[in-house]
Amino acid sequence: MSEEMKEQTRGEHLRKALLYDKKNGYDRLADGEQEAIEAYCTGYKQFLDAGKTERECVDRTIALAENAGFRPYVRGTELKPGDKVYRVNRGKAVTLAVIGRKGLDHGARIGAAHIDSPRLDLKQNPLYETDELAFLKTHYYGGIRKYQWVTIPLELHGVIVLKSGQTIRISIGNGEGDPLFTIDDLLPHLGVEQSKKPLGEAIPGESLNILVGSRPLADDEGKDRVKLAALELLNRKYGITEEDFISAELCAVPAFNACDIGFDRSLIGAYGHDDRVCAYACLSAILQLDPPEYTAVCMLADKEEIGSEGVTGMKSAAFDTFMTDLCQAQGVPLRACYERSFCLSADVTAAFDPNFADVYEKRNSAFVNYGLGLCKYTGARGKSGASDASAEVVARVRRVLDDASVVWQMAELGKVDAGGGGTVAAYMAQRDIDTLDAGVPVLSMHAPFETVGKLDCYMTFKGMKALFEEV
Ligand code: MN
Ligand code: MN
Repeated sequence: MSEEMKEQTRGEHLRKALLYDKKNGYDRLADGEQEAIEAYCTGYKQFLDAGKTERECVDRTIALAENAGFRPYVRGTELKPGDKVYRVNRGKAVTLAVIGRKGLDHGARIGAAHIDSPRLDLKQNPLYETDELAFLKTHYYGGIRKYQWVTIPLELHGVIVLKSGQTIRISIGNGEGDPLFTIDDLLPHLGVEQSKKPLGEAIPGESLNILVGSRPLADDEGKDRVKLAALELLNRKYGITEEDFISAELCAVPAFNACDIGFDRSLIGAYGHDDRVCAYACLSAILQLDPPEYTAVCMLADKEEIGSEGVTGMKSAAFDTFMTDLCQAQGVPLRACYERSFCLSADVTAAFDPNFADVYEKRNSAFVNYGLGLCKYTGARGKSGASDASAEVVARVRRVLDDASVVWQMAELGKVDAGGGGTVAAYMAQRDIDTLDAGVPVLSMHAPFETVGKLDCYMTFKGMKALFEEV
């Protein structure tokens, strides 16, 4: 054997032994896993179509949970291993738990995701007529790129709560034969000046007005006949008057149902992957648990997209109250439970997009089909706003995921100076709970139509289940 050959063999050996080998998830699947991915994603797509607002996601979650034997937890009732309980927070957030064989003094395993998504909320005085067309004024919710929300079909979802307290549920657009809505944009022929504006300024927030009607009230000579005709229709169908919009929460969401993307159907396109893709992963995992060793908790929060504020957001004490109730049933102080608990903050991350390669740092980006993306820290600039998990926490998750043959990758959002983002991780860490960010890489995050890889959806579920079942 020549010197040269020996040298090459040594190099090969060292490469195998020392270099971190990143591989496409499709080269790492176990037998039968391709079928499992498809089956899982079929359920996920149904979950997306049924839940286009946090309220609808809660309803769907309750239905799935009740079906799996979960019951609302009544404060003060006894809890034994294997008991499955949940609590809804004001119809917009839900926490589920499966009681473990070990007491809560050993801590809980928590999966926390959010079920609100960026959208256009109606203002409280939304309906107006101008130039014989009727529109609804909107105020966008969460970080959107405004130019993406014009000239797409929109549905209207939400509630109108009358002064009497009666709640009227609204869902227009996803029923058979329903009308849709849209926001118009300038024609290119007259767009010379608009086209010179920066992307972020071309469509001002106050121009995101939804077109809702054009037919004037017949046999009338007063003003605002189109608006009046629209109100007459709403009054006939829902019994409301214009003043009732004041206590309404109506959201315009894209009128897209989830669908397969690609010749190979390997991806899913839909509205609201962020963060229903992780919410469904946490939920599916907890629904499947046999009595786990440690109590498993699935938290599906609201308001993440506006900073986890509000009574239904992750900063709310509602989570602590529920956990206190579980702990008190076992005579355990909440703080003693928290300090030994562990949380995966399950939220999406940015997938490397070759169309916009310059905002990513390729060596530390998440890739589609490379599995569940772990993020040691999110935040912006010098990690501002990040909870920055410890090396010990990351090591533990590496071990759990590898032991369960979960395909996963380590990632951060993008280039250091390109921008940033946050998740609920920081608010779990504030509670003295060890927390790591983990989630599905998404293309076109926060767009009306986002794209994810099916393999990554499934691996996030598999990873959540592995965490819940860690002994
Ligand atoms: Mn998110
Ligand atoms: Mn988001």
